[in-house]
Parts: sequence; C-alpha cells; structure tokens
Amino acid sequence: MKKTYLSAVAVLVCAALVGGIAGTSFYTKRHFKEDIVTGPNVTEVFKLSRYNPNLEGTIGDSDVYVLKGEKEGGSLVVLGSTHANEPSGHMAGIILEENAKVEAGTIYVIPNINNSALTHNDPLDGSPQYMHFTTKNGETRTFQYGSRATNPIDQWPDPDIYTHKSSGQTLSGSETRNLNRCYPGVEDGTLSEQVAYAVTNMIKTLDIDMEIDLHESSPEYAVNNATVAHERASAIASEGVLNLELEGISMSLEPSPVSLHGLTHRELGDYTNTYALLMETGNPSQGRLRGYTDEDLVKTGEDPCYVIAYDLGLLYVDYSSGNFPIELRAGRHLAGISAYIDAFNNNSSEDKQIIVEGIPTYDEMINSDLGDFLL
Ligand SMILES: [Zn+2]
Repeated sequence: MKKTYLSAVAVLVCAALVGGIAGTSFYTKRHFKEDIVTGPNVTEVFKLSRYNPNLEGTIGDSDVYVLKGEKEGGSLVVLGSTHANEPSGHMAGIILEENAKVEAGTIYVIPNINNSALTHNDPLDGSPQYMHFTTKNGETRTFQYGSRATNPIDQWPDPDIYTHKSSGQTLSGSETRNLNRCYPGVEDGTLSEQVAYAVTNMIKTLDIDMEIDLHESSPEYAVNNATVAHERASAIASEGVLNLELEGISMSLEPSPVSLHGLTHRELGDYTNTYALLMETGNPSQGRLRGYTDEDLVKTGEDPCYVIAYDLGLLYVDYSSGNFPIELRAGRHLAGISAYIDAFNNNSSEDKQIIVEGIPTYDEMINSDLGDFLL
C-alpha cells in the first residue's frame, strides 16, 4: 500500500515538473514582446483596430507602420506573417519599415499581420520558438517563429467543416484559423475573420493602390519562387517578373484561381480596388522532406535531405546550392517589392508615383547578414 502511494506521488511530481517546464515555455512565448524598432522614417504607427474596433485590446490588433512621403502619390500595403512559420516575410517587413524612406506616396507595413499565430509554434514539427539576429552594433535581436495558424487559445474550437462566409466554400475545420482563407473577412466573426476584415476595410477606406502578401513555401510545392496575381494586377506583375528575371532573380507568375476563396490575391482584388499580389519563396524548414529542424535550418535553409530530393528531381526550385538562407529569401521579397513598385509607377500617372529609397537590394542582402539591416 505504502509503495503504491509513493509511486503515485513520484508520478505526480514528475507530471508537475514537466507541466511546469512546458507551461513556463508556453507562457513566455505567449507574452514575448518582439523586438521591432520603429524606423527613423516611419511617420506614424497605428493599430489595425482603427479599421475594425472589435480587435481593440485583442492579440489580433497588430501595429501598422506608415512611411508617408512629403509628396503625394500612390500607396502600397505589405503584409508579413500571414503564415507565421514563414519568417522571411516577417523579416522583410521589418527590414522595410526600419530602412525605407518614402519620398512620394505612402507605404504601409504590417510585419505581423497574424499576431496570434506568432505567439505559438508547432512543437510536434520540431519548429523553433524564436530567431536571433546580430546587428552591426553587436546587439542580438530576437524575433518570434510562429505557426501557420491562429493560436487555438484565441480561436477555439475549430468546426468540423469551415465554411467561408462570403462564398460558401467549404474546407477542413482547421482552415478556419488560416488567415489566408478568411478574406475578405467578417467584422464580428472569428479572430482570423476579424483581422481579415480589418485589412480589407483599411485598403478600401484608404484606397490603397497595391497590396503585397509575403509567404514562403516548401521546395516540393509547385507554387514556389512565384508571384500570384489577381487578374487586374497581371500587367504590373508581368512587368515586375520580367525585370526580376533581368536581374537574375527567377520568378514565375501564377494567376490567382477564381474559384479558390479566402486568399488575399483573390478577395482583396475582388472586394477592393487594390492590385493584389502574393509572393512565395522556397523554404526548406517548412517542407515535409526536411531533416533535423531547428533555428539554424530556418536561417540557413541548409538541409541534406533536400539536396537528395533535388538530385532526384523532386523539387520545383533550383537547390543546387544546397541552401536557401533567410538573406536570400527575404532578399527575394524585398527585390520583388521594389520591382512591383517600379512596374506600378510605369503603369500610373505622374501624381500616383511611389518613390522610395533605402530598400536593400537583392545583392546587398545575399552578400550580408540579415542582422546588418536591423537597427
Ligand atoms: Zn504561406
């Protein structure tokens, strides 16, 4: 009897220990204050809830960084972390707001559009919780590595089947927490739908001319190193893709499928006047074929399993280098943003130009450490 009692106590102590360690880790991640510095040329920072008051005081109320030029002109909004396990979009957004200086027009940057998804990760996938970068001053800055979906603490339970409200499209229940299946959004819907609504309403109210959503995808996924464009944005996207190719940056152009609902490139194009674009870069740390997964893999994209997959012809990207560092992936996003701004300007009147300097070039990015572009 005494022995049974002692065993029970031992099991309880072990469970409390494991629960305490895991709980502390989850709690710290949930309440982590990310180290985003407001760039010297940012003219305003406002909360997304300005465009959906239901978000006020919630984890979905992201910061919007505004870079407004002295001259009037066109406008652009850049979204990072729609999927928070695709960090090159998050980091490209942060580099953009910390470095760019807009002379004419306005650029809005939301580096953490699914803020809730950044507050948890996928431990069963072995994904890290944080990324660390060293700046030129020798300081270490820490950023969140999140999950594809909104944190279930903020949106639960998932229905068996997710019905996209404006189209009636049905998807598996877990897709209800995928922000990029929730556009154009619902003002008083789930947290993901409320965030999507705020973005749609912001673009509509401010009449933002162009929207670019930054993503990453598995190297074995067909839509890779690609730009997906709404049909109204196809002229700008084609010109941008051609110019990127001339710079040696391979980028394919995919039309936004008209019957796939809830995605930025479809719904923001349909429900607002914006030119809606989405970019994908190849990211081995997301892929199903990857090996050991840690922060190093996220940052270097160096994976021996993908070298074998490439040799077997299973990938949609050129992985002959054996790595896809985050400098290259974020560099592709920044080069894409610059190319699509140029293409937008070529297709717009004098008073609609977006003139910006200070965005790191692709060559600068791939020949430096990402931390060199952080303040
Ligand atoms: Zn994505």
